[in-house]
Amino acid sequence: MPPIPQFVTSTVTKMRFRSAVVSEVVLLSGHFRLIQLEGDELKEVAWIPGQKIQVHLGNLVCRTYTPIEWNPIEGRMHFVAFLHGNGSGSEWASSLGPGATCQFTGPRSSLNFTANKGHATFFGDETSIGAAFAHRRSSKDAERNLYFFEVSSLPESQEVVDRLELRGTKLITKVAGAQHLLEVEHLMIESSMIAPHLHWVFTGNAQSIQEVRKSLRNHRLVSSNASTKAYWAYGKKGLD
Ligand SMILES: Cc1cc2nc3c(=O)[nH]c(=O)nc-3n(C[C@H](O)[C@H](O)[C@H](O)COP(=O)(O)OP(=O)(O)OC[C@H]3O[C@@H](n4cnc5c(N)ncnc54)[C@H](O)[C@@H]3O)c2cc1C
Repeated sequence: MPPIPQFVTSTVTKMRFRSAVVSEVVLLSGHFRLIQLEGDELKEVAWIPGQKIQVHLGNLVCRTYTPIEWNPIEGRMHFVAFLHGNGSGSEWASSLGPGATCQFTGPRSSLNFTANKGHATFFGDETSIGAAFAHRRSSKDAERNLYFFEVSSLPESQEVVDRLELRGTKLITKVAGAQHLLEVEHLMIESSMIAPHLHWVFTGNAQSIQEVRKSLRNHRLVSSNASTKAYWAYGKKGLD
């Protein structure tokens, strides 16, 4: 596709996007960055934990991230970016440093963690750790929540979870052929038998969500008491 003329992208950018400056980038661990954005256009914004932003990478290409907290008085928000290394969003996040400018839309509806009543079981992967942080923060029964993540590198993800103080977390290492999902399902079913959970949240990879949900449904654990949002899928670019 030929590039979109700059006058078109700059007009659209002005019309629809908030402008912000990258004020801090924290290296949480190897492939994870905690990115802080600041600016007047982030003030007086009504943010609901679970909502998304869509960052404009140029040429009207956008990629989606989840704010982990938002300070509407100071005009400041944070999100965690996982650098999977195979796309323009990942490349953009790895190139960021303080002083970089950024345009994005949102916050916009995605999941709504404030709607959840009671304690929850949350499933996801590296892209969901930020969302899980926002979920835990907004939860009235946080100490009883459980967070299960399938991850490529256990030490890297453990470091992030520790630094964000995301308690109640279990990390499961991904293996080829997705055999590890059997362990995920087993752990989630087992924990639910010990202490039934009122709500389920499924995020991260679309194929994994489908597999895990199917198994939990077969055990009559998941029905209408679940919120689901796929964050990425094999072979697809830029899910929103
Ligand atoms: C509502 C929502 C909220 C999200 N929040 C976050 C967030 O807070 N932090 C975060 O890091 N990500 C988040 N994501 C996921 C992120 O938007 C995707 O991973 C996105 O594909 C990254 O864009 P990209 O340009 O790097 O890759 P793309 O160009 O979109 O994809 C290129 C290739 O990489 C593959 N790919 C995409 N993501 C991954 C991955 N994680 N691991 C391995 N392969 C991958 C794709 O299948 C594709 O084959 C969110 C997505 C959604 C829809």
